[in-house]
Amino acid sequence: MMPNMGNKDQGFTANNYSHLPGEDELGESLRWLIRLRWIALACIFPAIWAGGFLFRLTLPQRDLYLVGLGILLYNISFFIHHNRISQLPPGDAARRWTRFAGQQIYVDWFGLTVFIHLTGGIESPVLIYFLFHAVIASLVLPSRAAYLRPTIAFFMVGSIALLEYLLILKHVNLRGFAGEENFRNPTYILGTLFFFASALYVITYLSTSIMMKLRKRTRSLITVQEELRESAQRIETLYALTKNITSTLDLGEVMELITKNTAQLMRVKGCSVRLLDKDGERLELRGAYGLSREYLDKGEVLVGRSLLDAKEGQTVAIFDVATDPRMQYPAEAREEKIFSMLGVPLMMKDAVIGVLRIHTNRLHEFTPAEKRFFSAIAGCVSIAVTNALAYQRVVELDEARSKLMLTVSHELRAPVSAIQGMLKLLLEGYLGELSEKQREIIGRAHARTESFITMINDLLDLGSNYLDRTGKDPETDTSLAECLRKVVDLFMAKAGEKKILIFTNLTEGRYTIKEQEGDMEKLFTNLVSNALKYTPPGGKITISTSEGEEYLRIVITDTGIGIPADDLPHIFEEFYRALNARKSGREGTGLGLPVVKNIVERYAGRIDVDSRLDEGTKITVDFPWRKVTKSG
Ligand code: ATP
Ligand code: MG
Repeated sequence: MMPNMGNKDQGFTANNYSHLPGEDELGESLRWLIRLRWIALACIFPAIWAGGFLFRLTLPQRDLYLVGLGILLYNISFFIHHNRISQLPPGDAARRWTRFAGQQIYVDWFGLTVFIHLTGGIESPVLIYFLFHAVIASLVLPSRAAYLRPTIAFFMVGSIALLEYLLILKHVNLRGFAGEENFRNPTYILGTLFFFASALYVITYLSTSIMMKLRKRTRSLITVQEELRESAQRIETLYALTKNITSTLDLGEVMELITKNTAQLMRVKGCSVRLLDKDGERLELRGAYGLSREYLDKGEVLVGRSLLDAKEGQTVAIFDVATDPRMQYPAEAREEKIFSMLGVPLMMKDAVIGVLRIHTNRLHEFTPAEKRFFSAIAGCVSIAVTNALAYQRVVELDEARSKLMLTVSHELRAPVSAIQGMLKLLLEGYLGELSEKQREIIGRAHARTESFITMINDLLDLGSNYLDRTGKDPETDTSLAECLRKVVDLFMAKAGEKKILIFTNLTEGRYTIKEQEGDMEKLFTNLVSNALKYTPPGGKITISTSEGEEYLRIVITDTGIGIPADDLPHIFEEFYRALNARKSGREGTGLGLPVVKNIVERYAGRIDVDSRLDEGTKITVDFPWRKVTKSG
């Protein structure tokens, strides 16, 4: 049986008590027997009456009624006793049922024997009713006990025949029904007893063999049912585990979830995950549950001396950690009250990447089914670990890229600024008069360095956003409407030059956001500058704020050149510029929108772009109410 699966409360303890199918049914069979007795009683009383009055048989009516009454009384007491046993816990009840079944059958057989004596002894027609009792005994009792009953019946009936023959017991003569002196005829007695006994044994044999077959079949059905239930539970466990461990990509969290879930779902003492180090020599602890810090810090776990057969990738089961030579730290394990252990390799493609260990707090022999099940768990764990490792690598790469971006732009800014300064000196004539041509060329070079410096600043912004600023608490309360107005004012002169109208529909001063100073200004500057840059003269820009159920919405619409559908999915990528923007001769680096996106995400917001080529662009920014405070 799988540990913990069959019995919810026991974990890795052996489940000693199990119902035999017969015991399970015994209570039910005995209830049926009591019911049969009510029916028999309903027939007995009219039969006694009919025997005496209808058939005029010389029967000891009073004694027979007394026997009937006796059966009635003991059936009532059986009925009460049966109800009492039914209330007991299953283990206790099972033992009582067996005893109760024996008692009932003895009492019945004794009653029937008395009845037979009162209806003619060896000549009684009721003798044949023992066959019913033999069948009932075979149905209710274990097979060996069933064979004992016919033997007892044979002796009881034989004794009555003998006692009546010897005239020690008074014989009831069924005058008009049986031969008057048969009870004194040894041949008749022996013949009847022989056929009586053989019929009893044959019927017992037939019915017990049918019952044995039935019981065997029931038992195998129960086994199949149990196996099915265990499989279903195993699948459920695996499902729960997979669902939990794929809920995050953070390696630390994944490890915590794996070890905790495995230990709790499988109800074992503890669980740990170790991954191979770069050299493949040591197993480094990555997560554990249910084990003490001292035990986990016991020392280096070497691949050569650990549970894991790294080269083979085999599951290793250790029955007793204290004596098994494969244990690297047997004394420490014993002190931690670990008794048995299972090490299942974690595989990535065909290579071993680590080991999942299961620790039990009692001696436990892991069955092949358990090993298979833990291997399946290890399969899920491997996938989760692989994903988390890959994600961690992506995060590290992203960080490295941002660092490179910061370093390069930082190193570039100083020399470019120096060049710009020198060009300015030249332009302003400090180094002598310039010709018209020279002034024009140096002027263009100066303008180029200007946009170069803007790009470097954008790169620095992006790099620092990716690295340093994330995680820092925003501390400045900024009014979104005021910020937007400030940005619009900045662009008013340029808009005037291009004959572009800017309309604003802002809900003044009502919304504030806690920000890192400058974030919102940078965000809106980028969006408004794009709208202005990509809108031809005579166009229109509208800026508005509105309240949604969950978000505060800021919308910036223009009637500009629009973004081709093919470019739309890429415009938030660094350095990406749409084809029409590039062709239009408008200057740009393609770093504005990545900065915008980064800021929006840091404030848990979202950004959406809706654009039609040559018609215009609509940018929607939503900030959730938990980030924006509404006042007034
Ligand atoms: P930078 O902002 O770095 O000076 P840029 O404006 O080209 O350069 P982004 O702001 O990142 O770069 O925008 C990326 C691209 O998205 C632009 O090159 C342009 O193709 C497209 N785009 C952005 N806003 C608009 C807009 N309002 N109308 C049309 N196209 C736009
Ligand atoms: Mg831009």
